[in-house]
Amino acid sequence: MRAAVIGGGVGGLAAAIGLRRAGWDVTAFERADGLPATGTGLGIWRNALTALDQLGVGDQARRAGRRQPEGTLRKPDGTVLGRLSADVHLLTRPALLGVLADALPPGTIRFGSTVTWQECDVDLVVGADGIGSGVRRSLFGVEPRRSGAVGWRGTVDFAVEAGGETWGRGVKFGLTPQADGRTNWYALTAPDADLSVFSSWHDPIPRVRAESRDVLRHSLDYLPALPSYVTDRVALIGDAAHAMTPDLGQGACQAIIDGVALASVLRSGDVPTGLRRYDRERRRSTQRLVRRSLMLNRLARVRRFTAVRDTALRAALALAPTPSWSADLEPDELAG
Ligand SMILES: Cc1cc2nc3c(=O)[nH]c(=O)nc-3n(C[C@H](O)[C@H](O)[C@H](O)COP(=O)(O)OP(=O)(O)OC[C@H]3O[C@@H](n4cnc5c(N)ncnc54)[C@H](O)[C@@H]3O)c2cc1C
Repeated sequence: MRAAVIGGGVGGLAAAIGLRRAGWDVTAFERADGLPATGTGLGIWRNALTALDQLGVGDQARRAGRRQPEGTLRKPDGTVLGRLSADVHLLTRPALLGVLADALPPGTIRFGSTVTWQECDVDLVVGADGIGSGVRRSLFGVEPRRSGAVGWRGTVDFAVEAGGETWGRGVKFGLTPQADGRTNWYALTAPDADLSVFSSWHDPIPRVRAESRDVLRHSLDYLPALPSYVTDRVALIGDAAHAMTPDLGQGACQAIIDGVALASVLRSGDVPTGLRRYDRERRRSTQRLVRRSLMLNRLARVRRFTAVRDTALRAALALAPTPSWSADLEPDELAG
């Protein structure tokens, strides 16, 4: 049985490894000319690490990343609202893609190849082509929507002791220590704001902002719920199926879990039945995460009643240092 994976991102490579392990002959097509050399950090949660274990690359991923130390949720003046503790490893995107690509035989990924699902003459097509998915557009005609926020990301060449997030009025800033002694950061603002809004915030945020080069700025978009993730021979995975705002740090994690779930239901070789099962197993839980991420995004962006919000956050974190929005994912979503 032959499969074509369209997109060599996190989801596509995870699916390619899983399908190969399930006995499929797989080719992954990636439009970029090679693996990325640079990229910021991705928080890979326990659910995705377990999925990576199932692909045989969990230990390599743990070694390539850094387990996040306990962090804090703060106000812009540095007041601690609570402690954040979760089982998350931070890997740079190139490190994660490198671990996945190393698990595939040479030649499995065809770089510099932009393809459509219609031209793939195979038993199974995996649409792993990201938020702007051409596969999804052609099958379902659904386009991503703007959340109304923009995300900023970067790295600096110095270490911070601990990570965490700081929430202000309509904006937030996050710090995550990397394995190489550098620090990954991200921020969320309104589209018309710039990073100067953080210059009066607590240390080390102004220094991080001042010393960052190559800052990335994205519109933060999400995907409205699709009626299905499959047809009789095509499956959508990752952002192509359920792009979410990054507030839960689950987009790449869920893409990996999709890849593992898809490979597992296709062991038997009965493609239409396996794809229906994949849709049943993955659609509801991932669409719930899209909604929760968006809700958290909106909570971080409130401009009024922030004192009430902060009091509620303080109370929630006192009860559960693993933030409620991630603790709530147990057991079905965190288990994938
Ligand atoms: C600011 C920010 C922070 C984030 N932080 C986290 C985090 O901490 N943890 C987490 O889990 N997730 C995080 N995410 C989400 C994560 O980046 C995405 O969910 C993840 O990259 C999705 O993987 P994917 O493989 O589905 O798609 P992508 O990574 O977008 O890969 C799709 C690939 O398909 C290729 N492609 C597209 N069209 C074609 C075609 N026609 N032919 C061939 N190739 C094609 C593209 O070149 C690309 O390589 C974050 C996102 C943002 C924006």
